[in-house]
Amino acid sequence: MHLSDATWTDADAAATDLAVVPVGSTEQHGPHAPLGTDAYTAEAVAEAGATAYDGEVVVAPAIPIGVAAEHRQFTGTLWVSEDTFRNYVRETVASLAHHGWDRVVLVNGHGGNVSALREVAGAIAREDDAYAVPFTWFEAVGDHSDEMGHGGPLETALLRAIAPELVREDRIEAAREGGADGWGEWVSYANLAFDSAEFTDNGVVGDPTAGDADRGDELLELASAALAALLEAVESRDASRPPHK
Ligand SMILES: [Zn+2]
Repeated sequence: MHLSDATWTDADAAATDLAVVPVGSTEQHGPHAPLGTDAYTAEAVAEAGATAYDGEVVVAPAIPIGVAAEHRQFTGTLWVSEDTFRNYVRETVASLAHHGWDRVVLVNGHGGNVSALREVAGAIAREDDAYAVPFTWFEAVGDHSDEMGHGGPLETALLRAIAPELVREDRIEAAREGGADGWGEWVSYANLAFDSAEFTDNGVVGDPTAGDADRGDELLELASAALAALLEAVESRDASRPPHK
């Protein structure tokens, strides 16, 4: 059940304690992919995972703006502080829990959100009347995960599968040529760069031409199967905190 499309009476009839919250970002994804990529992909994975799960799941609307100051030099990128982001996610989960949907998977589409989501989920599990676990789709697609760039093969492939009209196919070559091979500028295992503009001219990392729609279908299948398995584990878990030793 997608909350945005349901009525409150539909929501009231939902007999589940499971919810998924897609978490995205509005940020540059190179000259060929839309600023909303991370929200679109998170939403597609959340919906496919909820469908693949054998049981009812409430699908919340996507959180569209996240921790993305690292893309600030590229026009259209929006961001909030980690504090604001964590608080927003925490209060959103609390409102889901208020209705009885107190086991929540945060389905994330943006690398910059990862550490803040892990931290806030821990706070929710320890201190609130809810249990939340973050899930980042591109970490759950097997060997493909090694090729995650930015506006690169994985995101371009998934977009071609779920929203092909949003991929500017006539700019794919330029996207590849102006992009970087890897994320960051590393010396002695330390990343010297804080902003993506330090190492990529057009915002791309990785080769977007290496991501066709078939690969996108495979990514969606892998990610949604992983999410369905996670929902199963979250549903059956004893989420209470262990007693003090
Ligand atoms: Zn992205």
